[in-house]
Amino acid sequence: MFNYFSFARTAFYFSLKAVKIPENSEIIMPPITIKPFLDVVLCLKLKPVFVDLDPDTLCYDCNQLEKAITKNTKAINITYLYGITPDMDPIINIAKKYNLFIVEDFSHNINAEYKGKKLGTFGDVGIYSASSTKTFDIHGAGLLITENNDIANSLRKYQNELEFPPRIILLQKIITNFIRNIATKRSVFSLLTFPFIKLLKMISSEEVIKFTGTRPTEPIEKIPKSWL
Ligand SMILES: *Cc1c(COP(=O)(O)O)cnc(C)c1O
Repeated sequence: MFNYFSFARTAFYFSLKAVKIPENSEIIMPPITIKPFLDVVLCLKLKPVFVDLDPDTLCYDCNQLEKAITKNTKAINITYLYGITPDMDPIINIAKKYNLFIVEDFSHNINAEYKGKKLGTFGDVGIYSASSTKTFDIHGAGLLITENNDIANSLRKYQNELEFPPRIILLQKIITNFIRNIATKRSVFSLLTFPFIKLLKMISSEEVIKFTGTRPTEPIEKIPKSWL
């Protein structure tokens, strides 16, 4: 089954809602992911529990993982990073042993396989971000796959309640992506973009700082309308 949302974070939000993870439950989170995934967890009043990554695979260190699980742990977000496929068996075995709801984020590892099985198909749901700058980019989207019919049906219901974005937003996204795609071409980046960002940073407006690594760190109060 295949569902699509406006962002990966939105797909993540509705997956946790679809299986009704009770408030105050713990969810295992990677220390490296995008901030909106953490915002989703906090907005749903779940408790993120960060587990250290194995430096060789940049996925969970299995010893740390098992130690972090308590009676109150209900879900796990497995995020693959930078195209590296970890040893899946031990991670999935631990998650299944404790009956955790497994959300895989394969945004960095589209089409990757482990023992002939695609990443994104090991858990209950697999989420891929097709947002700007990703390998497969469709001007922003969160694609979700699941083999669980109940989850798929709940997700369709949520999807049907969402609003279409105004055309102007789509146009803005397309223009922004076009500029980004050119600006991040290797030669253009080295010769123009990087020196330009460096120059702008000297004047240092908020917008520029965002592109040089520093992002807002305050948790958000509620899920913004634009995510829906
Ligand atoms: C880009 C990225 C996301 C972002 O998803 P959105 O579609 O912007 O919500 C999520 N997870 C990882 C690992 C990413 O690289």
